[in-house]
Amino acid sequence: MRIGKIFGIDIVINLSWLFIFAFWAWVLANSDTFGRLHLSPAGRMSLGLITSLFFFASVLAHELAHSLVARSRGIPIRQITLFIFGGVSSLEGEPSTAPVEAWIAFVGPLTSIVLAGVFLALSMALGPQTPLGIASAYLAYANFVLGIFNLLPAYPLDGGRVLHALVWRWTKSRLRATQVAANVGRVLAIGLVAYGVFQMLYSGGAWGLWLIFIGWFLLQAGGAEQMQAELLSALQGLTARDIAVPPAEPVPADATADVALQTMMRTGNRALPVMLGDQLLGIITMGDFVKLTDRAPASAYVTSLMTRTADLKSAPPSASAVDVIQMLSKSGVGQIPIIDETGTLIGFVTRDSVFKRLPLHREMRRVTGTA
Ligand SMILES: [Zn+2]
Repeated sequence: MRIGKIFGIDIVINLSWLFIFAFWAWVLANSDTFGRLHLSPAGRMSLGLITSLFFFASVLAHELAHSLVARSRGIPIRQITLFIFGGVSSLEGEPSTAPVEAWIAFVGPLTSIVLAGVFLALSMALGPQTPLGIASAYLAYANFVLGIFNLLPAYPLDGGRVLHALVWRWTKSRLRATQVAANVGRVLAIGLVAYGVFQMLYSGGAWGLWLIFIGWFLLQAGGAEQMQAELLSALQGLTARDIAVPPAEPVPADATADVALQTMMRTGNRALPVMLGDQLLGIITMGDFVKLTDRAPASAYVTSLMTRTADLKSAPPSASAVDVIQMLSKSGVGQIPIIDETGTLIGFVTRDSVFKRLPLHREMRRVTGTA
């Protein structure tokens, strides 16, 4: 769910966020801290909602800090997503050097800790016994925990990324750094799960369960990032020709749309070359069928629906595999045709075959330590 743009960056809210937002508002409203305030139930609920809103604004500020610094270093930002465990800034590209990576990662927790200071000052200014003063004190505490928790060297938390940058600087090898950071992250994530279980057994309550969830989430996210880094390094030196899947069964230029559709169904291909003899005229894809509007598929020629060769976003077979996958992820189309200098279609680099295994947008996943 898109809620708007800040500094030109799309802000998206995952449905899980609404759930956790309502949950925290309710928990806060019924907490001992707010209970001591002699407020009406409606007053407590409004205070809970306001506090919750400011807390999520704080998470957003943390993510914006990552995103704005990344953008200032030339990395485009796809969007910021808020979800149950916090926020994700989706960066389209990798930091080029270790210091850039360290700075992008560190600025998030730094923002949270600065916010903690601001809310603490606000709480003292408002009076620590007033409702808004207590809410500010809570926000100071929550932002402080958020900042410190994210500095844990548990990749893919921010602290893990700082560790990654340091090892990268020392060893001069990005892949080696990923392996080290992922292993340290795994140990810490398992530690969090174990500590969560211990908490649940000996003191009970939701805090232990929350730690287990976070640890489990970190294990998943860290594993995915490591796989991505390893795939990326495996792709180094490969060309578009190496990763292209061979062209699907072509359809002739005089074929109608229903023939193309049947060929797609039968062969499981979403994109077919349209050929006139040996000459490639264009590509027809599953998405082109929307151009049919109210025409019957049997009466429309594929040539009236296809994208012509001249208008195709294509790449030569000698292009680097990484560049073509990046092109694919940015263009929003399902496949990039690989066409050589004689106009012959070599094959397609598709989302299905490569993109799923290699999401090139780098996701900076973070977890909120909402205690
Ligand atoms: Zn962060």
